[in-house]
Amino acid sequence: MTNNRRELILAELGLLPLWIPRDRARPPSPSTNAAPDNEPSPPRVDEPEERSTRILRSGWPELKDMVKACTECPLHAARRQTVFGVGDENADWLFVGEGPGVEEDARGEPFVGQAGRLLDNMLAAIGLKRGHDVYIANIVKCRPPGNRVPEALEAARCEPYLLRQIQLIEPKLIVALGKTAASNLLHTEASIGSLRGRLHQFRGTPLLVTYHPAYLLRNLADKAKAWEDLCFARDAMTELKAGARLKAGQLAFT
Ligand code: URA
Repeated sequence: MTNNRRELILAELGLLPLWIPRDRARPPSPSTNAAPDNEPSPPRVDEPEERSTRILRSGWPELKDMVKACTECPLHAARRQTVFGVGDENADWLFVGEGPGVEEDARGEPFVGQAGRLLDNMLAAIGLKRGHDVYIANIVKCRPPGNRVPEALEAARCEPYLLRQIQLIEPKLIVALGKTAASNLLHTEASIGSLRGRLHQFRGTPLLVTYHPAYLLRNLADKAKAWEDLCFARDAMTELKAGARLKAGQLAFT
């Protein structure tokens, strides 16, 4: 990623200036949790800004460790394990779903249940395969109990992890699977029906919206629309690989 783009993202998150040498950082005030010399240090609790900065500076191993240890929102309490994401860490394609279900929670990998099998078939329909030039992640990394939609606070606490994944992957195209992914990435309450069929942008990266595979399992009639979306995505990727600089709204169904 270019320094410019990185700086734009940091500025948007209110994290500039970025580099503050430790010896110039303010000493801890008496109200911070610094322990006297002879007492064991309390467990490290990141201030919100420090946490975001650590995430934004992390590489894959540190990011994975941070997600594994995350207790930032109530979802951590009932999870069996976190579900980080899976695939090619340099993929051109990034698919983003909602959050782990019961099978993903058990196996630690996104989209491994029934909806995942449909997603794999959708990928195959446009010549893609999980793990090959494709990365799959979710809006939240822990299973919402009862497979409910993640709450705003849960999605917000998890957002920096997904942002960092996107920064590290640098996908050419993001495909938002379903309403939760679309509304969190695009900050809109608009319906999938109104968002699909045209190109959006997520912080400079082209983004398309389609139906969530779990929705398609219940609404077979919309599979034809998802197929249109996938063909649209495949065509957009062809243009992106040819070096086109696609802007939001520039590309739409013909
Ligand atoms: N649904 C999602 O949105 N993500 C998964 O990982 C599984 C099901």
